[in-house]
Amino acid sequence: MNDAAALSIAIIGGGPTAVALLESLIRSRDTISPDVSLDVTVFDPTPHPWSGHSFAPDRPEALTNTYTNTMSVRHWQPEHVEIWLKANGYAELAGNNFAPRSIIGQYFQDSAQLAASRLEGFVFIREQVTGLSVVDDHVRLYTQNGDNTFDYAILTVGRSDKFDPYRMEGQENFCIRPYPLKDALAGVDPDEQIGIIGTGLTAVDLVIALKADRHRGRITLMSRNGLLPAVRPPSLEYELQRFTVKAIEESAAANGGVSLEDLVHLVHDELHHAGTSPEPLMEEIFPSRYGIDRLRHQLKHIDGGKKAYSILIKTLLVLQDAWYFLNPEDKTRATGLHHIYSSLCCPMPRHRAVQILDLAEANRLDVVRGVKSVAKAAHGQFVAVAADHPPLHFDRVFSAGSSGNAPDPVAIPLVDSLLRSGQGRAHPFGGIDVERRTSRLLDTYSRPQPRLYAVGTMTSGAFQVLNGYSVLRLRTGHIADAILKHGEASRNCRSRHRALAAVLEDD
Ligand SMILES: Cc1cc2nc3c(=O)[nH]c(=O)nc-3n(C[C@H](O)[C@H](O)[C@H](O)COP(=O)(O)OP(=O)(O)OC[C@H]3O[C@@H](n4cnc5c(N)ncnc54)[C@H](O)[C@@H]3O)c2cc1C
Repeated sequence: MNDAAALSIAIIGGGPTAVALLESLIRSRDTISPDVSLDVTVFDPTPHPWSGHSFAPDRPEALTNTYTNTMSVRHWQPEHVEIWLKANGYAELAGNNFAPRSIIGQYFQDSAQLAASRLEGFVFIREQVTGLSVVDDHVRLYTQNGDNTFDYAILTVGRSDKFDPYRMEGQENFCIRPYPLKDALAGVDPDEQIGIIGTGLTAVDLVIALKADRHRGRITLMSRNGLLPAVRPPSLEYELQRFTVKAIEESAAANGGVSLEDLVHLVHDELHHAGTSPEPLMEEIFPSRYGIDRLRHQLKHIDGGKKAYSILIKTLLVLQDAWYFLNPEDKTRATGLHHIYSSLCCPMPRHRAVQILDLAEANRLDVVRGVKSVAKAAHGQFVAVAADHPPLHFDRVFSAGSSGNAPDPVAIPLVDSLLRSGQGRAHPFGGIDVERRTSRLLDTYSRPQPRLYAVGTMTSGAFQVLNGYSVLRLRTGHIADAILKHGEASRNCRSRHRALAAVLEDD
């Protein structure tokens, strides 16, 4: 290290998770080693520092899908975001409300600037990191303009924002990137027949924006399973008592891992403890209704099963640890249920569900499942083929599906370099492997690397559940603690060596 009481830390990726990292590093420093100076460098070539792919400037219809009270950059202070919203004239968006994501993007930017001003050293370098190596207790990062050396590096590189299952990139009137909505929807004729590939939250953003533009043409949302996001239940004040990290750790220690049955048992236990039962969730987990039918049913019954459903959503915070311990066979089984999980645990605001239903009942919107192909025909229109459905014709098609956990293309050279050098190893379920408690990268020999950390998409195989800011920011706390403790231990070790050397010299 350069200085006994200074740590230099590189953060690769300057999106929303990086803001939580800055805050967590300051907090861990203040509690673990208050005398240590923090010198942080963030690398990201983006034109929108701190907003990442999802919270950049855009139209208001690009809305948060979680209540704003989940968006605090401080995992220990949920009200931090509310204080900012109130101070900046957005009091009506605070609490159990939704906000245009660009406003939350402003919150991230302001928070990052404030956090940076509390660090002893801070630089934002607008460059892509293309490689990394650890040499003699130092991490060397490579960009197109040279290299830089640090004590620690944290990867927080996000995921790809491109989804093109039918290889239509470059076709006229095919829009591969739905955001920013203002660009994607520019030039749309109000009478065009619109096809949207995907039935998730991005598709919902597009529909609501088209509605705001008074679109008259028919809108068709299509996917393999035809599941729209479920309807978000009202917020519930409740802290999990049974489905906890501790309970999962104990179960894993006793049985050498956990099974899906163990996890289901814990969820049932939690629901009974809360005075409810899994009954209201059964139709959601094993759906017999799809598309608009399911939406109509949910809107009718959401208040009846709200407690069970709200508790199910809360399990999200523990699911990373649950997945980590899950045995490989059950991981494969659970992967087959991913679309159900996404629909339930990434639900849409109720007022949006009502608007979608209104459009469908006015015969202006449809949801089609069993889609097999979408292609551009010789006559210039797009044609979609779906099971049990006559061919569908569109003037314009938007891609609004999820690239899953495919990494951001900007991150690929870096990840390749880590895997080639053996300083990282691929996880069999995707991404690179990390140690659970610290998020340290595991090398080819399964050794945790105390100088390398990852959070977010790159940890998809290890943690799987990555789609909530509250989940990601929690990990930033673990990483910050691990770095500060390692820094402290290294300093103590060096002091002991110096003392020993002095004694030997005296002798
Ligand atoms: C449409 C959409 C809406 C969402 N809405 C919500 C919501 O309402 N609530 C919620 O909790 N979550 C939401 N999410 C989840 C959301 O993605 C995360 O909460 C959060 O944005 C993740 O931030 P991040 O910093 O990890 O990743 P990103 O936002 O993807 O940022 C990663 C950054 O890393 C940079 N990068 C990549 N590779 C390199 C490299 N090699 N060198 C340097 N920089 C690099 C990229 O340029 C990028 O700026 C939403 C996601 C999407 C897609």
